Amino acid sequence: MSPKTVAKPAAKKPAAKKPAKRKPQDPNKHWASYLRRYRPGLVPFVLDALEERYGRQEWHRTLDPVSELILTILTQNTADTNAEKAYEALRRAYASDKAPEVHTPGIGWGGTGLSDAAPPDWSRVENAPLPELIDVIRPGGLAPQKAPRLQSTLKRVREERGSYDLEFLGDMPPLEARDWLTSIDGIGKKTASIVLAFCFGAAVMAVDRHVERVSKRLGLIPAKATADQAHDMYLELVEPTRMHAAHVLLIHHGRAICHAQRPEHDICPLRDRCRMVAPKAP
Ligand code: SF4
Repeated sequence: MSPKTVAKPAAKKPAAKKPAKRKPQDPNKHWASYLRRYRPGLVPFVLDALEERYGRQEWHRTLDPVSELILTILTQNTADTNAEKAYEALRRAYASDKAPEVHTPGIGWGGTGLSDAAPPDWSRVENAPLPELIDVIRPGGLAPQKAPRLQSTLKRVREERGSYDLEFLGDMPPLEARDWLTSIDGIGKKTASIVLAFCFGAAVMAVDRHVERVSKRLGLIPAKATADQAHDMYLELVEPTRMHAAHVLLIHHGRAICHAQRPEHDICPLRDRCRMVAPKAP
């Protein structure tokens, strides 16, 4: 090479384009679109058939929100009839001079309904000696766990709001209200959703063991979904205007026909589209 010749630098290869990162899809939206595509019309089919069997379910308030919250905590991991016993015991032990509350639970409730009587005095419940409160609610079961939960819940509500009034939740967007409630220790999405759905008609879904069982057998939610995930999946699956009815109808169906043991497929209005009966049901 002559001294004047300058070697040309090698042409730079254009950098290979990195493949664009795909945004991870919201699993709840993904499941809802999967179901719409491969099992079209399943959700309205289920709701229409259950409505035809059990009647149309309109929302009405069942109790004042703080009463509903305490009653719902009392239902955790026990039958509704036991929760009724514990709640009635609270009314007797910590009587208030408030107007009687009228409990109108409808078919979603597994008990016989509370008597018409004044709600408990929440301040007295909050400040009762713990061993005494445990004794009072013992007929409802799991009293040593639930008594401190009742007191800490009432304390938190009073400290944050200055009273035991939870009506403000009705003015919040439903998921924010659910977050507010679930920030209290011992209150999960199910308990929070029951309060919001039954007291305010909010479009949130409470997934209890009956709803979860029926939903998984039908294939409305994936078999591996947790109940916690199912709460949010339902928000994508069901029209907000039918959310309340969906909860009430599925829970009632789980009690009436789709029992945990020996479900009565023969008399079930959903059998033609149920994946437990036919794994390839449409
Ligand atoms: S067909 Fe059987 S398993 Fe399916 S929803 Fe009805 S009772 Fe339940």
